[in-house]
Amino acid sequence: MSNFAKRKPHAVLTPYPVQGHINALLKLAKLLHFRGFHITFVNTEYNHKRLLKSKGPNAFDGFNDFNFETIPDGLTSMEGDGDVSQDLRALCRSIIKNFHRFFRELFAKLHDSATAGLIPPVTCFVSDCYMPFTVDVAEEHALPIVLFSPCSACFFLAGFHIPKLFQNGLLPLKDESYETNGYLDTIVDWIPGLKNFRLKHLPTLIRIKDPNDLMIEFMIEVGDKCHKASAIVFNTSNELESDVMNTLSSIFPSLYTIGPFASFLSQSPQNHLASLDSNLWKEDTKCLEWLETKESKSVVYVNFGSIIVMSQEKLLEFAWGLANSKKPFLWIIRPDLVIGGSVVLSSEFVNEISDRGLIASWCPQEKVLNHPSIGGFLTHCGWNSTTESVCAGMPMLCRPFFADQPPNSRIICQEWKIGMEIDTNVKRGEVEKLINELMVGEKGKKMRQRAMELKKKAEEDTRFGGCSYMNLDKVIKEVLLKQY
Ligand code: UDP
Repeated sequence: MSNFAKRKPHAVLTPYPVQGHINALLKLAKLLHFRGFHITFVNTEYNHKRLLKSKGPNAFDGFNDFNFETIPDGLTSMEGDGDVSQDLRALCRSIIKNFHRFFRELFAKLHDSATAGLIPPVTCFVSDCYMPFTVDVAEEHALPIVLFSPCSACFFLAGFHIPKLFQNGLLPLKDESYETNGYLDTIVDWIPGLKNFRLKHLPTLIRIKDPNDLMIEFMIEVGDKCHKASAIVFNTSNELESDVMNTLSSIFPSLYTIGPFASFLSQSPQNHLASLDSNLWKEDTKCLEWLETKESKSVVYVNFGSIIVMSQEKLLEFAWGLANSKKPFLWIIRPDLVIGGSVVLSSEFVNEISDRGLIASWCPQEKVLNHPSIGGFLTHCGWNSTTESVCAGMPMLCRPFFADQPPNSRIICQEWKIGMEIDTNVKRGEVEKLINELMVGEKGKKMRQRAMELKKKAEEDTRFGGCSYMNLDKVIKEVLLKQY
């Protein structure tokens, strides 16, 4: 190790072990690396194996002062089976039960390496807020810890009020009838910062019958640990979520908006970390060549992210809606997208779309969103996809499924006005109509203009002197380097 490296501050970053969270924290890790930090990025053993499989065995070697370490995920029975690692309930259970011990052991190993002069001593932690045990380890070693919220600030704020929903009798839900009886349209007007907010916009984990449910316990633990963190940072900007951030600032004293990362990184100087990414699935880059053959803003991009699954029946409604719209489309269908089996698309459908539809299993999403041929994004509204779409100036068709996706869809459609929502009970006729509106309708045109304005604002916020840029500087100087 060089003398220079010895003097470097050393941040340990720990994402919740699913694709969207890993991607977001890796971006933050890069931003810290650009500002002189030595980085240890912690994946689960299982995910790291998947990364090596998709990227190649040496993909993570040779990045100066940027190391990867692993911890087990405590779900040993899933070895060789990709499904259990996507089971958020199983992950949360294991995080509560096992991860504190795994992380302590890793910290001891890092400490030994530092004592041997191989790496700089750990000086701070930057952790996904859904990895709450990291706060205890930071406390044990009297080191600063910044928690990172990989979801929208809106979801964070709403999640924080879940216990109150139980106290005032709005929850738990009595039975399954809430699906159809309009109960989820009940207005929740007592959370400051959330205007025109309804039960259906709350994180879907409230849709349970047992107030002692494991996921509620997990969210309460996350909320408690957030109060103990040195600071909390968000992949959002004041421009994107100002009311919510104002409310949150009255609850937590040390909060920073430092996003959107997609815009931040696209404006950062090119360097040797550009090739470092975290795709758990192997990318199909042929779709970029295919996009080259299409006209400007003519293609609908369809991607439902890394976790959600849907029935074959719903998939077919999307499929025929796309086909009947007669618009070119690029549709990413993960091999595990359909519940309980593989995706089946009839030869009739394949013939119908042969000249204008391309289906792939995983793509470089940010490159696709920024390709000139793409004109709209049919999305599940994961927060990364949402912010990446904003940073590409792309209007959206929203079909939220779970977790933070319903509140995110509300922000996209009602606050930013750059999207339209598809009904939960998706039908091909509606999909066809909304795609046409998005791609060639008057509403689509207005949404595109507005999306371009948001993109410009995101660029201003994240370039030198912008609000998010300055906030990142502040959190580094005032929190991460405070004791350094
Ligand atoms: N992603 C990608 N290629 C794909 C699908 C997704 O690169 O084909 C990336 C996408 O850019 C985003 C992340 O995977 O960074 C998905 O995160 P998001 O929060 O949007 O949704 P989640 O997968 O967590 O539901």
